[in-house]
Amino acid sequence: MMNDVIIAGGGLAGLFNALQLNRAGLRVTVVEKKSYPFHRVCGEYISKEILPFLNQLGINVFSLGASHIKRLEVTATSGTIFSQKLDLGGFGISRYAFDDYLYKLCQTEGVSFLLDTRVDDIRFTNNGFEVVLPHRILTAPLVIGAFGKRSNLDSKLKRPFFLRHSPYVGIKIHARIDFPDDLIQLNSFKNGYCGVSKVEDGRFCICSLAHRNDLREQGSLEAFQENIINRNPYQKEVFRNAELLMDKPEVINEISFEKKQPVENHILMSGDTAGMIAPLCGNGMTMAIHSAKILSAIIIQYYYPGKPFTAPARAALEQTYRQAWNQQFARRLWVGRQLQHLFGNNRLMHTAIQMMNKMPPMANWMVKQTHGKPLA
Ligand SMILES: Cc1cc2nc3c(=O)[nH]c(=O)nc-3n(C[C@H](O)[C@H](O)[C@H](O)COP(=O)(O)OP(=O)(O)OC[C@H]3O[C@@H](n4cnc5c(N)ncnc54)[C@H](O)[C@@H]3O)c2cc1C
Repeated sequence: MMNDVIIAGGGLAGLFNALQLNRAGLRVTVVEKKSYPFHRVCGEYISKEILPFLNQLGINVFSLGASHIKRLEVTATSGTIFSQKLDLGGFGISRYAFDDYLYKLCQTEGVSFLLDTRVDDIRFTNNGFEVVLPHRILTAPLVIGAFGKRSNLDSKLKRPFFLRHSPYVGIKIHARIDFPDDLIQLNSFKNGYCGVSKVEDGRFCICSLAHRNDLREQGSLEAFQENIINRNPYQKEVFRNAELLMDKPEVINEISFEKKQPVENHILMSGDTAGMIAPLCGNGMTMAIHSAKILSAIIIQYYYPGKPFTAPARAALEQTYRQAWNQQFARRLWVGRQLQHLFGNNRLMHTAIQMMNKMPPMANWMVKQTHGKPLA
C-alpha cells in the first residue's frame, strides 16, 4: 500500500496523529515496536484541558472508567503538606487501557498498523522517506517521529541529548490501596518523588521518578522503596496496605528533559520525541495529544494526497510547525525544568511547601503553570 504518512511509534502522539490524519483522508501506517495492550511508565494523570478536544474527536474517557481528580497534595519527607483544590483538575486512566482503546479506534477507522515491529532507521532521500524495518523498507512523502522520550532512532539521528546520560529512572506499579478517589498526591523523597492517583477499575497508579545512583546504592527496588521512598510518611502509608496488581513494576532509565528539536532531518517530531516535560511538573500526555493536534492540522494545510509534495511546500510545513510548537510548548517545558530542580531536595521541598501554604496566590500560579488552557 502507498502511504502518505508513516508514524514511527504508537504512543499517544502517534495514535492521535494517526486518528486525525486518517480522518482527513490520508493513508497512514503506524509502526510500533510493541503490541497493545501494554503497560508504560507514566503517572496516568491527565489534565482536563484536553477534554473538549477529546469530545470533538468523539472520545469519552469516562466510558472507559476514567476517574475524576479534583485535589492536589504535595508532601515532603519532613511531613509538611500542601493541599489545594484543582481549578481545572484532571482524570486518571491507565495507558494500558487508553492506548489500547485508541489503537482499536484507529484500526477500525482504517489506519494500518505494523505491531511488534521496530523502526531501525529513517532516511530522507529524493524529497521522500525510506523507513527501514527489520525485513523491509517502507516509503512515504511524510514521516512523523513519535517514538517517545528515548529510542534507537535518536541514536541513529545523532540527536545531541541522546549522547548525554541522564540520571533519572521511572518506576510504575498499579495497586489497590486505601486512598481518596479524587486526589493526586505528589510525595517527595531524596532526589525524587512519587505520584499517586486513581485510574480505572478501582486501580491506583503509583509512579516514581528517582535518581539512578540512589537505586544502585540500595541494590534492589525493595530496598530502595523501604529506605528512600518510604522516608516520606505519606508514601509509606500508601504502600502499607497496597495490594500490588502487576507482577513487577515497569522501570525505564535515562529519562532526559533536555531540549530537543520539533523537526530533524525533515522528520516531524511529536510528543516526547519533540520535547519532554518533567513529569508531575506538567502534563506530558496532554502535550503529546496537543502536539499531535497542531501537527496534523499543519500537515492537512500543506499536504494534499495524490498531488506532488514539492520541496518548498515541505519547507513551509516544517517552518510553520517549528514556530507553532515553540509558541505553544517552549515556556511550559522551561517551567517544568525549573520545578524539577525543586522536587527531590528534602530541605528545599520542606521550605517550598511552607511558602506555598503561606502564599496561596504563588501556589496557585505554580499549579497553573503546569496545566494549560482548555483545548478545543
Ligand atoms: C515517571 C513518569 C511519569 C509520568 N507521569 C505523567 C502523568 O502523570 N501525566 C502525564 O500527562 N504525563 C506523564 N508522563 C509523561 C508521559 O508519559 C509522556 O509525556 C507521554 O507518554 C508521551 O507520549 P508519546 O506518544 O510522545 O510517547 P510514548 O507514549 O512513550 O510512545 C512512544 C512509542 O514509540 C514506540 N517506539 C519507540 N521506538 C520505536 C521504534 N524504533 N520503532 C517503533 N516504535 C518505537 C514505543 O514502544 C512507544 O509505544 C510521565 C513520564 C514519566 C517518565
